[in-house]
Amino acid sequence: MTRGKMDPGPNPFCYRDGILTCEDVAADVIAEAVGTPCYIYAGNEITRNLKAYQDAFRDLPHLVCYALKANPSLAILSHLVRRGAGFDAVSGGEIAKALAAGADPARIVFAGVGKTGEEMHAALVAGIRQFNVESVPELKALDDIACSLGMVAPVALRVNPDVRAQTHRKITTGMAENKFGIDFANILEVWRMAGEMAHIRTQGLALHIGSQILSLEPYRAAFNRTAELVSNLRKQGETVESLDIGGGIGIAYQHEAGLPPAIADFARLVGETLGDLDCELIIEPGRSMIGPAGILIATVLYVKETADRRFLILDAALNDLLRPAMYDAWHDLIPFREADPESRWTPHDVVGPICESSDTFARDRLLPSLSAGDRVAFLHAGAYGASMASEYNCRPLVPEVMVSGDRFSQIRSRPTIEDMIKRESIPDWLSQDPDDPNEEP
Ligand SMILES: *Cc1c(COP(=O)(O)O)cnc(C)c1O
Repeated sequence: MTRGKMDPGPNPFCYRDGILTCEDVAADVIAEAVGTPCYIYAGNEITRNLKAYQDAFRDLPHLVCYALKANPSLAILSHLVRRGAGFDAVSGGEIAKALAAGADPARIVFAGVGKTGEEMHAALVAGIRQFNVESVPELKALDDIACSLGMVAPVALRVNPDVRAQTHRKITTGMAENKFGIDFANILEVWRMAGEMAHIRTQGLALHIGSQILSLEPYRAAFNRTAELVSNLRKQGETVESLDIGGGIGIAYQHEAGLPPAIADFARLVGETLGDLDCELIIEPGRSMIGPAGILIATVLYVKETADRRFLILDAALNDLLRPAMYDAWHDLIPFREADPESRWTPHDVVGPICESSDTFARDRLLPSLSAGDRVAFLHAGAYGASMASEYNCRPLVPEVMVSGDRFSQIRSRPTIEDMIKRESIPDWLSQDPDDPNEEP
């Protein structure tokens, strides 16, 4: 089996003459123009990753639907629309963003365990490709809303295949104990129930067993169970036209922790297990499309030495990149200036300024000597980075930049503190006299 990088294309973030560059732009130029912290995405790398999926699946009828939740930047969505991607959305907001980026509604799939009536209504009116339905009550609600509109809702039933995905417990989704999907054993019954609903058209099955999976084995187990289910449904006279096989493979955050399978091997497995079923396949990669295409850049504020530790205090924090605090995730950290081969690497605790001990990006990370004002970059930060960012500690939402060759543009600007204050309001009655009858004494 071929193991290694996602795609053997050129690395968009590398040193040229000892200076970190993003495609053909020096990272310093972006840092000077936009300030830090800031996300930078390499447009050509996004294209390569999409093409890797499209090429690997070219012998099977398929649609690659980028999972917006990994990074819903309008510019990235627009970039993907132009290259033939469909979209996997998990909220009405994501559907609206995909449409705003010019996506064809017939290429949008709507997943998620808690769709509201309003979201289903808007998605029906927009004419999306498919609702991935996760429960009987959701199916009934969708049937009612479609009825009120005089429409028929295209549906895939999301099956919970009950396999262990061998990933972090917070991102496994395909075990019986998880909140996702319909129990494997109940699919036939629910399919029949759906068949009796006048405003539902069940076209297929959907599954998603988790994220950041580095082994093909859990997929093999889930796909084999799904193939068996399709045969059973067909034996009962049901028509199964499509299979949505969920998110993409994991990425190489840390080489020591294992490397992901090649996309071609993943596609081969899909062909072996599901290829003979004559179903249209939907693949929903998020992380593997955008993760390796993004970095978070930051500036060293202080190097603080205590009795037994050396802290690297950055201007980036967990509100900008939550993954280390939330999932104990590893992100490689590299300086903008390539380290002198002679320099001594020492352990550092890499932290942000937020008042939480969990605002720690790395412990005992070996780094060359750095000083206040030096800049650094977290690698593989394009997915679940900016999309999970917040304004905790009244820190402005982190800006984003996209690079293509020697061009770069800000695709989301950093709000000013004035912008942030203007979004809020103080009720008039707060300033009323203290004898206000609504006020407790
Ligand atoms: C999160 C999610 C994805 C994307 O997963 P990645 O691991 O980022 O590729 C795809 N489909 C569904 C239903 C999801 O919840």
